[in-house]
Amino acid sequence: MAVLVLLDISQVAFEGVSVAMLLPIFELFISGGDPANLENPSIFWRVLNEGFAYLGLDVSLRTMSIVTFSAIVMRQLFKYASTVFRARLRNNYIRDAQMAIIRSVFGANISYFDRGSTGDLINDLVNESAHAVGIIFILIASLNTFFLLAVYGGLLTSLSWQLTAMSAGIFVFVSLPMRGLIRKSRESGENRLVASRGLTSFLVERLRLVRLLRLSGSEDRETEQVRNLFTAIADHTTTIQTLRARIPLFIEPIVILLLLGFIVTSQDMFGLKPAVALIFVGMMVRLVPVLQQLAVTYQGAMATLPSVRKISGRVESLATAKEVDAGTVSFTGLERGIRFEDVFFAYESGTVPALEAINLEIPKGKFTALVGPSGAGKSTLIDLLPRLRRVSSGQIWFDGHRLEDFTLESLRNGVAFVPQSPDVFNVTASSHIRYGRPEATDAEMAEAARLAGATAFIAQLPQGYDTLVGEDAGLLSGGQRQRLDLARALLCQCSVLILDEPTSGLDADSVEVFQETLLRIREETGTTIILIAHGFSSVVSADQIVVLEGGRVSTIGTHEELMKTDNWYSGAFRKQHRAALAADAG
Ligand code: ADP
Repeated sequence: MAVLVLLDISQVAFEGVSVAMLLPIFELFISGGDPANLENPSIFWRVLNEGFAYLGLDVSLRTMSIVTFSAIVMRQLFKYASTVFRARLRNNYIRDAQMAIIRSVFGANISYFDRGSTGDLINDLVNESAHAVGIIFILIASLNTFFLLAVYGGLLTSLSWQLTAMSAGIFVFVSLPMRGLIRKSRESGENRLVASRGLTSFLVERLRLVRLLRLSGSEDRETEQVRNLFTAIADHTTTIQTLRARIPLFIEPIVILLLLGFIVTSQDMFGLKPAVALIFVGMMVRLVPVLQQLAVTYQGAMATLPSVRKISGRVESLATAKEVDAGTVSFTGLERGIRFEDVFFAYESGTVPALEAINLEIPKGKFTALVGPSGAGKSTLIDLLPRLRRVSSGQIWFDGHRLEDFTLESLRNGVAFVPQSPDVFNVTASSHIRYGRPEATDAEMAEAARLAGATAFIAQLPQGYDTLVGEDAGLLSGGQRQRLDLARALLCQCSVLILDEPTSGLDADSVEVFQETLLRIREETGTTIILIAHGFSSVVSADQIVVLEGGRVSTIGTHEELMKTDNWYSGAFRKQHRAALAADAG
């Protein structure tokens, strides 16, 4: 920053020298080129004589022209350097701001994402941060303009302070109507921000739901909506640029008016010599773009202000949403088991707790299934284990340690999670499996794939492990995608494995494969398995089935134990079983 200001000051200084030299050159030229013949020389001569004497130069038209030209060349060089430097600095600042935001986003707790829209976040990250950083440079740019104004103000004042004061007064008075223009710029900036946010939110949502869009045949309607949003942004941006274009409309006529006024009055009003008046007029003409720049800069700053406010709000909310990581113990594996002790959890927006008075033991190396109606709190309970969410009250113990005592990194390295419909990035099968442990060997990867029951279908892919999988490739079925993701989870050799059972895309054979896979993992690795079960076939062999209802644990037992009594599980199991029998009979 300091370098930039220095470059700007140098640029202005050289400009000042080159402009200040013009009057003496002019005077010398009129007096026939000999300094001795100068009549009533202007006050610039005193500085010039001292300066030239200091540099050891003789005062002549030739040296003066060379000095002036050199000053102009230097000004251009500094101007170029400042422009290039400014561009680089600005782009680096934008990148740094964006990186700071994304780092805070990755470090924010999960509840932060419950609140805001992803589209809004993307817009802040990509668009508003760039606008907001722009304002710093707008301020520096206006600093540069102020230097220039100061230099010109000084030069003009030394020629005629009366004329300068009068022009400044008239200028300020006549530019008052520009205030409305500035206010409108600010409003347009606000409107542009709202439209841009609307657009990104809309796009993120619709691109995610592209299947629904296709199936509903709503492409035309959606396209029209996108069109409206793009049009709104275009309109507001055009308004800002139109307002910018109006500034010269004000400034140029004002300056020209002043000039004409001088030409008419200077001779008799202040008794200025023609040469001085001419230079005065010349300087005023040079001032036109400077003043325009100042007004444009100010207008730009006003249009950017809403983005600055938005970004500072975003940074503040991200700072308060930072994940708490105060633990000091490194989680190295489970020895006895996990214990929930009177755990309550309420969502910020929830009116009733999602989990209430949960008391539960999950023994090490066993297979625990979580069942219950939709909305019972199964996913919420699971989110507590890798501390994606923190309990509202109560305690979760991993052996003798409270969950909070562990460092987040070690905890998450020790607890693997396979979601119901895993997202597979557009990478090769091998890269996906290695996502959490890029350094794993081929043998380790193949072993994880075997345990997950993924070896056979990976072998059938066109390039085996090197085949690009993921959404775009569309090569994998729902069940295969989950097994691929299970291989990823197994590669981390975590002591706790949490799975959300796939509800769709699994035929009877796949269900059986899935069940065998779970048992194989338990037998061969001693991993503690927690399964959120939606169907019941994979639950039958669980070591314990935990029934959650309305955020509370209603029953716990093995399949046999639960079937002996009347409870949600036995009821739901019989219903499903009857339906299966009826289907077979039909
Ligand atoms: P399950 O996994 O058993 O279907 P969940 O754990 O998803 O149940 O939900 C438990 C309760 O918490 C439900 O009443 C649900 O509406 C609520 N809930 C879930 N996620 C959120 C959230 N992000 N914000 C607010 N409430 C939520």
